[in-house]
Amino acid sequence: MNTNGSMDWSSALDAIKETVGPNGWLSEAAELEPYVTEWRKILRGSCRMVVRPASTEQTAKVVGICHRAGIPITPLGGNTGMVGGGVPEDGIVLSTERMTAVRALDADNATITVEAGCILAEVPNAARDGGFLFPLSLAAEGSCRIGGNIATNAGGNNTVRYGNTRDLVLGLEVVLPDGRIWDGLRGLRKCNTGYDLKHLFIGSEGTLGVITAAVLALVPAPKDRVTAMATADSWQDLLKLFAIMQGHLAGTLVAFEVFTGLGMEITARHVVDIVDPFAEPAPLYALIETVCYGDDAAVREALETGLGEAFEQELVGDAVIAESGLQADNLWRIRESLPEAQSVEATVIKHDISVPISKIPAYVAEGSKIAMEIAPGCRILSNVSAYGTT
Ligand SMILES: Cc1cc2nc3c(=O)[nH]c(=O)nc-3n(C[C@H](O)[C@H](O)[C@H](O)COP(=O)(O)OP(=O)(O)OC[C@H]3O[C@@H](n4cnc5c(N)ncnc54)[C@H](O)[C@@H]3O)c2cc1C
Repeated sequence: MNTNGSMDWSSALDAIKETVGPNGWLSEAAELEPYVTEWRKILRGSCRMVVRPASTEQTAKVVGICHRAGIPITPLGGNTGMVGGGVPEDGIVLSTERMTAVRALDADNATITVEAGCILAEVPNAARDGGFLFPLSLAAEGSCRIGGNIATNAGGNNTVRYGNTRDLVLGLEVVLPDGRIWDGLRGLRKCNTGYDLKHLFIGSEGTLGVITAAVLALVPAPKDRVTAMATADSWQDLLKLFAIMQGHLAGTLVAFEVFTGLGMEITARHVVDIVDPFAEPAPLYALIETVCYGDDAAVREALETGLGEAFEQELVGDAVIAESGLQADNLWRIRESLPEAQSVEATVIKHDISVPISKIPAYVAEGSKIAMEIAPGCRILSNVSAYGTT
């Protein structure tokens, strides 16, 4: 400790090791490698140590020590982020991988309280035990962690019905940059007292503090789902199809995902067991999913009626409705394999841009033109969730 109360880095790193114990830190170059390289292996950083606290209290002590020594902290969850926010420049990587507990499932309040290192796919598993669904779902769900989802305000496949991660977070526990713990773990749906500080941390990519736990909103688990895929020639036609589906399926439409013929082609080429379900390739494909809470035959009929209307208006070229859970999973696998297929096919420049639904056709046309001017010969692969494009 220096006379002004600050610490030198070497003493600080020793103090951190003591705080988290022998299982709580890594410093060999080979051990650090997976934590300093992002999953696409495009960006690579460096750090002095990976710190893996086992509790909020340990996290707070570690952050406090770093604060006194001026050591930069890069929080890391599952390292599936797309924008390099988890790539360290120096200092320590603070991994949440040892904070994985489900702290509470409150069935009467329909909430679940989980630690930040909980793998996303584990949250719906835990919620299912209480008859609930946690509706955040994305292709990285087997690796990404809830703290990372919150820090990136991830969207995923069900935004059309349930919104982004922000809409599912009711409370947060955060370690602030000076090591204090901010306890905002409230499970209130109606709260109008003062500023809602949790929203500052959601989407902040680790810049304002380390999220250590969250209270998440659950919804009743649906009885069943009906999944369909349709082809279309133009983005305008798909906008009309979306409006028809919203009209027929209202609150039960949970996904409307669009990808291009190029996406289908490369996915079928690179990913085992993926086949285009249609006889003819098409310019655009829409994956549509609706959930059933009561009479599933009625929901299926509503979906069929909507598709029938779209056929009459010549908005869709072909369509298939999954007859089983396996068929539905196979349709989803096409959508979810797109990132993997892209990485195998070529070097990928990713972006994630939100535009109003009505502006999607113009955005894709203009954006493609500009991209072609900047990088002639590039291939554009637009994947659109009903509320965003990538
Ligand atoms: C195959 C695939 C599909 C994807 N699909 C989608 C999608 O549909 N929609 C979408 O929005 N995104 C998607 N993503 C990207 C998405 O952002 C991440 O998958 C996920 O939300 C990040 O979680 P993570 O735990 O991996 O975070 P990391 O990559 O570890 O970190 C991401 C950022 O959050 C910060 N961070 C991590 N944990 C914490 C914490 N506890 N406290 C504070 N800051 C923290 C990091 O510093 C970094 O800035 C996808 C990624 C992949 C690989």
